[in-house]
Amino acid sequence: MSEIKLKKDVRSRNQQQADTNRRLFRKSGLLALNILGSPGSGKTSLIEQTARRLSSKLRILVVEGDVETERDADRIRALGIDAIQFQTHGSCHLDAMMVAQSLQEVKLDKVELLIIENVGNLICPAGFDLGEDLRIVVGSTAEGADKPIKYPEMYLHADACVLNKIDLLPYVDFNIEEFEAGARQTNEKLRLFRISCTTGSGIDPWCEYLQNSYTKQHNNMR
Ligand code: MG
Ligand code: ZN
Repeated sequence: MSEIKLKKDVRSRNQQQADTNRRLFRKSGLLALNILGSPGSGKTSLIEQTARRLSSKLRILVVEGDVETERDADRIRALGIDAIQFQTHGSCHLDAMMVAQSLQEVKLDKVELLIIENVGNLICPAGFDLGEDLRIVVGSTAEGADKPIKYPEMYLHADACVLNKIDLLPYVDFNIEEFEAGARQTNEKLRLFRISCTTGSGIDPWCEYLQNSYTKQHNNMR
């Protein structure tokens, strides 16, 4: 089998499972997030902050995708939030089958907000639909402001972009306008958020966006 044919097969198998996942999520009335971004951008910290703010309003389940270790799921569990760790043992992205496998034992109708943290990687996670409702790409001021134009695929199919670590702006050489212009250039519909998981700045509008999205989704389903 040629490499291109093989790639196509992998993608179409993934798409079938993603569609199945999405149907299941819809039936349960939950809102599913796929959180992407490079290692160290603050994906887990964003989930911690989000869970802290929203856990009194929405029943949250977190699926943590990592190559190895249970560390990120442990961080979430420390907050009293349910978390499942999926270890890919080498794969550099999550696929829809891995998500289905992680959720096998879960009663989804008890979940209102499902947060899936993808493997930290700016390339191939973009090519794998997991069945999510919202795709969120996380960037940070500790990275280059040219990330969106260097990795456009990540931004192209995202619904929102969260720029983390804005508390570091006085200390780093990061042009926030350049970053946001690059993100918009790739995807003009992208919702942009500026946040700091350290100070909590900007977390409120972000959580409001999620709550509104959940309400919309839930009402649609009825
Ligand atoms: Mg993480
Ligand atoms: Zn990969």
